[in-house]
Amino acid sequence: MSVVTQTAREKKLTLHGTPVVSGVVYAPALLARGEIPTAAIEAFASVTFADAEAALAAYEAAAAAVADGFTAKALQVSGAAAEVLSASAGLARDKGLRSVVRRQLAAGEPLLRALHTGVEHFAGLFTQMGGLMAERVTDLHDIERRITAHLVGVAEPGVPVPTEPSVLLAKDLAPSDTALLDPELVLALVTGKGGPTSHTAIIARQLGIPCVVGVAGAGEIQDGELVLVDGATGVVTTGADPEDARRRAADDARERAELARWTGPATTADGVGVKLLANVADVPTAQTAAGAPVEGVGLFRTELSFLNRADEPSVEEQTGIYAGVLSAFGAGRHVVARTLDAGSDKPIAFATHKGEDNPALGVRGLRLSFDNPGLLDRQLDALAAAAASSGVETWVMAPMVATLAEAESFAAKVRARGLKPGVMIEVPSAALQAARMLEVVDFLSIGTNDLTQYTMAADRMATDLAHLTDAWQPAVLQLVAMTAQAGVTARKPVGICGEAAADPLLACVLVGLGITSLSMAPAAVRPVGAQLSRVTMADCRRAAEAALAAIDPDAARAAVREALG
Ligand code: PEP
Ligand code: MG
Repeated sequence: MSVVTQTAREKKLTLHGTPVVSGVVYAPALLARGEIPTAAIEAFASVTFADAEAALAAYEAAAAAVADGFTAKALQVSGAAAEVLSASAGLARDKGLRSVVRRQLAAGEPLLRALHTGVEHFAGLFTQMGGLMAERVTDLHDIERRITAHLVGVAEPGVPVPTEPSVLLAKDLAPSDTALLDPELVLALVTGKGGPTSHTAIIARQLGIPCVVGVAGAGEIQDGELVLVDGATGVVTTGADPEDARRRAADDARERAELARWTGPATTADGVGVKLLANVADVPTAQTAAGAPVEGVGLFRTELSFLNRADEPSVEEQTGIYAGVLSAFGAGRHVVARTLDAGSDKPIAFATHKGEDNPALGVRGLRLSFDNPGLLDRQLDALAAAAASSGVETWVMAPMVATLAEAESFAAKVRARGLKPGVMIEVPSAALQAARMLEVVDFLSIGTNDLTQYTMAADRMATDLAHLTDAWQPAVLQLVAMTAQAGVTARKPVGICGEAAADPLLACVLVGLGITSLSMAPAAVRPVGAQLSRVTMADCRRAAEAALAAIDPDAARAAVREALG
C-alpha cells in the first residue's frame, strides 16, 4: 500500500511495510546496487568467443574474481560474518554450477544465458528444499549478478560503502550483503521484500538498527534522498518536513540511548518478574550472550553447530560442544537446550531425510527420531554428560512436537537422564493441546516463527507474504494465549523463543497473556527489558486484550500502542 503525492518542489512518498525493529531514523538513502545496466548486457551480447572452452575460461575468471572478493572481505571480519562470506565464496566457485554452465555452453548457449540456466537450476533445487536452503537462492542470484558484472565490465552490485550515516534500501539483502554492515554508518534497513523472519530482519535485530521489510514502492526512492524511517509503525517517508523529521529522530536517539542503559533483571513497573533469556547457537555466541543482562539461555539451537557436518559427531564431541555452551553460564542461570531441529530450513547431512516433496511438513525436528531413535538418545546422553560436568541447570526441549504421545515419550527419555523436559509449541495441534502437554512435561517454549508459519500456512522465508508471517496475527496470538493460560493454570513456565520475543511492544502483549520468559538475540534484550519496566501488569493485560481483539497485525500494533498510552 503506498500513497504518492507529487508537489511542485519535491516528491512525497508515504510507504508502508512490516515493522521489524523500532526506532526513528532520518538520513539519506543509500541504494544497494541491484541490477546490471541493460546497455552493458546488450553490449556484451556482441562479444564472441573462439569456442565453448574460451567462454568457459571467461566464466571461470569472473567467478574466481567474485569468490576472491568475498574471501578478501571475509579476512576483514570474524565469526558469523566471516562464515557467511566464506560460504558465498564457496558458492561462486561451486563445481556443480561450473559443470552446468559448461554443459550449456557446449550445447551452444551464449555465456550469460548459460550462467543464468546454471543459477536457475540450483535455485530450483534450493527452493524445493525450502527454509534456510531457499534463503540461499538470494545468494545465488547475488552471485549471478556479480559474475555478470565482471563479464560485462561494470562494478559489482551489492551494498556500496556508505560515506555518511545512511538508510540502506534494497529489494532484498543477501547474507553476503549484510555480513559487513557497520551500524555506525547504516542507521536503518528498508527492503521491498522479506518478512519478519527473513534474513534481513534477523540481522537488523542482531545489529539493533531500525528495520522495515516488505515495503511496497521502496524502489521509487532515489539514491541520496532524505528518508524518514519509523521502525515501530513500518512507515517510510520521503519529502518529510526536515525540522520535524530531525526532531523525531533526535528524540528517538535519546530514547534508545536510555534503553541501552537498562541492566536487568526484568520486572514490570509493579514488580512482576519476567525472565529475559538469550538465543544462542554455539560456544562463541553463548560467550557473547553471557555478557548481556540475561538470566540464562532460552534457546540453544544445537543443530546449528552441525550444519556443515557429513557424519554424526560422537557423543564425546557433542558433550564438549554442549559443555562449552553451558559453562558460559554460571550459577543461578539456566540453559534450555533444544534437541536437533534438523530438516526443512536446517538440512543436516547426517540426519535429514532426502528428497521430501514438502520438507516443512515432513520429517523434521523430533520426527527424525521416529526411525532413528539412537540419534536422539546419543544427543540426550551428551547433554546429560555436559550438564553433569558443568554443573549448570539444564532444561531440554524437543522441536516440532505435534502430539501428546511424542511429548510423553520425549519427557521420559529426558527425565531418565536427570534433566528437566519440555516441548516447543510450534505446531497448532500442540498449542491446542497445551494443557495436556503440561501434564507430561515441566515447561513449554513457544517457537513463534514456526507457529506463525504453520498457523497462517505461509512459508516463514517467503519474501512476498510479510503480512501473513507476522506473529502479531490475531490467530497466532490466540494460540499463544491458550498456551500461556495452560501454563498459568498448571503453574508451570511457558516462554517464547521465536523472533516475537524481541519486539518490545509485542513483549508487553505476551507478558499480559501470561508468558513467563522471553528469549531473544542478546542485542534485543535491553530494549525489551526497558519497555517492560515502564508498564504494569494491568497495562500488559489491557495490551493483550487489545491485540487479540484487533482484525490484523497493523490494527493490533496500533491498538496496543494506544492501550499502553
Ligand atoms: C521458532 O520456530 O520460533 C524457533 C524458535 O525455532 P527456529 O526458528 O529455530 O525454527
Ligand atoms: Mg522452529
